[in-house]
Amino acid sequence: MEKKLSLTLVLILVLSLCFSPHTAASASQTALIPLPETGEMISGFKTVETGDMALINSKSVLFEHEKTGAKLLYIQNKDMDRSFDISFKTPALDNAGAIHVLEHMSISCSNKYPLKDLIFAILNQTYSTYANAYTRQNFTTYPVSSLSEEQLLKLTDVYLDSVYHPSVSNSKNLFSREAWRYELPDANAPLTLTGTVYNEMKGDLGNISSAAGQNVLHALFPGSIQSNIAAGIPDNIKELTYEQVMNFRNTYYHPSNSLMVLYGNVDYRRFLKHINDEFLSKYDKKEIAVETGKIAPLKEKAERTVKFPVAASSNTKNSSQIDYAFAFTDISEEDTVGLGILADILNQETSPVMEALKKSDIGGSYSVSFDAAFTQPILTFSAANADESKKAEFKMLIDNSMSNIISTGFDKTAVDAVISNTLLTNSNLAENRNTGVNLSMKIASMWANHGSLDYYNHLIKNIKTIKDKAEDNYFEKLLKKYIENNNHAALAITVPEAGLAEKLANTEKKHLSDLKAAMSKQELDKITADTKAYNEWNNQLPDPKIVESLQAVKIADLPEEVKTYKTNDSFTSDGVRLLSAEANVGETETSSLLFDTSAVPMKKLHYLQLYADLFGKLSTKNYTQKQLNTQKLRYLNNAEFHIANVTQNNARQYTPYFSISWMGIASEYDKQLSLVKEILLNTNFDNSKALLNLVRAQVSNLKSQYTNDPLSILLLRNLAQIDESSTYQNYISGLDYYNFLLKLEKDLVSNPKAAAAELKNINALILNKTNLVTTYAGNKNTIKNYEDSIKIITDALPKKKITSQDYGKLPKPALREGIAVDSTVQYNAISASYKKMGVAFTGKLLPIQTLIDQNYITPKLRFGYGAYVSIVSFNSNGILAASYRDPNIKETFEVYKGLPAYIKNMDLTQETLDRFILNAFSDYSAPRGELAGAESALLNCLSGEKAEDKLKILHEIKSTTVQDVKDSFAMFQSFIKNGSYSTVGSKQKLLENKDLFDEILSIK
Ligand SMILES: [Zn+2]
Repeated sequence: MEKKLSLTLVLILVLSLCFSPHTAASASQTALIPLPETGEMISGFKTVETGDMALINSKSVLFEHEKTGAKLLYIQNKDMDRSFDISFKTPALDNAGAIHVLEHMSISCSNKYPLKDLIFAILNQTYSTYANAYTRQNFTTYPVSSLSEEQLLKLTDVYLDSVYHPSVSNSKNLFSREAWRYELPDANAPLTLTGTVYNEMKGDLGNISSAAGQNVLHALFPGSIQSNIAAGIPDNIKELTYEQVMNFRNTYYHPSNSLMVLYGNVDYRRFLKHINDEFLSKYDKKEIAVETGKIAPLKEKAERTVKFPVAASSNTKNSSQIDYAFAFTDISEEDTVGLGILADILNQETSPVMEALKKSDIGGSYSVSFDAAFTQPILTFSAANADESKKAEFKMLIDNSMSNIISTGFDKTAVDAVISNTLLTNSNLAENRNTGVNLSMKIASMWANHGSLDYYNHLIKNIKTIKDKAEDNYFEKLLKKYIENNNHAALAITVPEAGLAEKLANTEKKHLSDLKAAMSKQELDKITADTKAYNEWNNQLPDPKIVESLQAVKIADLPEEVKTYKTNDSFTSDGVRLLSAEANVGETETSSLLFDTSAVPMKKLHYLQLYADLFGKLSTKNYTQKQLNTQKLRYLNNAEFHIANVTQNNARQYTPYFSISWMGIASEYDKQLSLVKEILLNTNFDNSKALLNLVRAQVSNLKSQYTNDPLSILLLRNLAQIDESSTYQNYISGLDYYNFLLKLEKDLVSNPKAAAAELKNINALILNKTNLVTTYAGNKNTIKNYEDSIKIITDALPKKKITSQDYGKLPKPALREGIAVDSTVQYNAISASYKKMGVAFTGKLLPIQTLIDQNYITPKLRFGYGAYVSIVSFNSNGILAASYRDPNIKETFEVYKGLPAYIKNMDLTQETLDRFILNAFSDYSAPRGELAGAESALLNCLSGEKAEDKLKILHEIKSTTVQDVKDSFAMFQSFIKNGSYSTVGSKQKLLENKDLFDEILSIK
């Protein structure tokens, strides 16, 4: 399944400050099981080596299964969100996507668990915190996690059964569903071609940045399998056969070709025994030759230009992508880390190469990236929204810039800032959700691409060594060796061609109609019969006993508890609010300043957003742009500057804040505050050239975002109807803002002073200690320092009365809206607030969210119509249903319109409902890191949410009944009647469905 969207991520767009709780891990925490000595045998596994993983404060043990050679890495720590992952090395021998289809088929059904949608049952109906599978360059990986050890053991069994014991009876239908199939409901209907992976890849490759990535691979690795797309190209996927997939499986899905990673606080001995007894003991060691496609370094730099299809109406001027990429052969672990940091140094907005690029007018925005997830890793310089005729200038500029750096040297303070930042970020990996899953997949990638299993054990040590060597021109030497003296490089130019999108779409349509016209009646009858048989198979309901057999946790066992943090909430003598939370961490802390922006007049809101986008990017009284960038990197880790609404009372009221947040080391807190003060008080808005460059880059970034990630703009606009806070967010940061920037880009040339005056005005409206809130999360001993030091900021601010402005008349998108972008697939959404639907939010709705997705929407949309992902998200404001990479529009909305009838006619038992309850409970209580948890406690103080509220929701989830589900019928009726409907997709498809929309607009 490549990509399942996180709903938290989706909603973060509009609810940037609403957090969910998590249950206490401590209640059931058990002591860690002692680790074995090297050489010790446990259930057929030999202990090969033990080590430390400083990265996440853990121990690691590498086991090798004697009979098969299968490797298993156990990472031991106290994390209760335990995970298991199995990976196989899988070379992309062509572009037909056999690897990807196999991944989808494996995870859909197994011999012991013969469901047709196994992964969705795990995801939606078990006590799991993560379940997915990914096709990556050179490997396929299957990660799963749970808060319960019993449940993880069960899911390990399910996952291993999926990869080792595939379903026999469902196999051919699964291939039709996941790869491709013809559809012909009756002899008069048009012949169509669909399939989950086919549509997924149409969407995945349907944007210019993916096309550019492919172009780079072809240029760097001509004729090698390294240039193949492991996940498949639609035109090749439709040639794929069932037999090819099975052959691939028989070759590579073998224990001798596998790596397992087990993570967290578990009795690893039980896992080893189960894995050996049920699976590995049945296999013998096998030699499996895995092609890597490694080629001899190119002797001469290559150049390659390809066309990218866009609609006839698209503006193709300055819309190309130019990439200049370098490949590396046989690099050491340390240099791999070094090249990653080097790319970060070069990617800084004020690095010498970026400064030179910004002066050039070659492109709209630039980036430097490093990717080690290839046999031969790649470092790429990119210009997006570029003028393709300037390709030679781009290459020369980079070559010259690299030579200059090598002779004059990097600014060592800038280098040191990047390394410190890398070290702090990597030392706090456990703050992110799904730590075990994320780490396991990274380890699998290094194993598959470089054969290394201890890259992450050595990572912190390697960063520290590089830090020591930096003074001695380590990075300059790296540049000389890997860039200046490296001919294994290529210039790849990807150019949009207007009208090619329609041409290809029409060719595809014509191909299918010609195909149909040429078929005999007998052939047509066969396809009609196949379509019918497929649909019958697809509509068969799953056997509830199989879903039941996935369970290892009972509802009665679920702990109704919320982890609490000790918080202090006080005011300084002049009214600034100080909020702090004690976290059980070392020296790391996180802080934020929230300035009330309600005094900004409605007409000036886009200048407020611009102010936030520019914050810290212009020079100040005491720092040049470059010095400031270095200081920010050094002291404000993970810094974010944005407009965030804090909502009270279910989002019907909100306060807009300009939020400055960062992570740092407690002993440097004063330096962090002094730096923020410098930006707040002393920013120079009068440098019109710098301003123009930043506005241009922002326009380019937004333009790329709309084409590469259409879902973001779809949700922003669709949800704008849900409440006033979302209307505000859409207006301030969505298409209205983009159009404002396009105009500003022109105005800045004719009247540069006007914009500076507006920004100064915003700065004056924000700089105020009235309604200022400051937050701090860190260890107990550092909180006093926070309370004392915050004066650095507060003493410098004026105290003024705020006149709150009325934002009640902000424009909203049409209730039924189509938005045309360059895309070969669609993204559809419908949403409505509880207020509009006349109901109130309760935790009892949360199990219904997954129930309708799993039992109704996903079978119809994904398995029926081939839409890649269905998103259903209920939060405390309202409900949303959306489709991702969808071939259709009308059919999808028809499926949503069938929701009330589905609820009315559903045959639901409490036993079935209980499984959705388990999953909703697990979702709502998924843990986060210690600091992140403390931060969320602070935000809850701010929005007035109490621990009791969360306990109430947990209790409501647990007590959901069949009658509650039936009672939601009226809500869904109202959802369909009062919801807002939006689609982002190809212009042609939107026009074919124009009756569905009040308005269709195109993004310029
Ligand atoms: Zn996929």
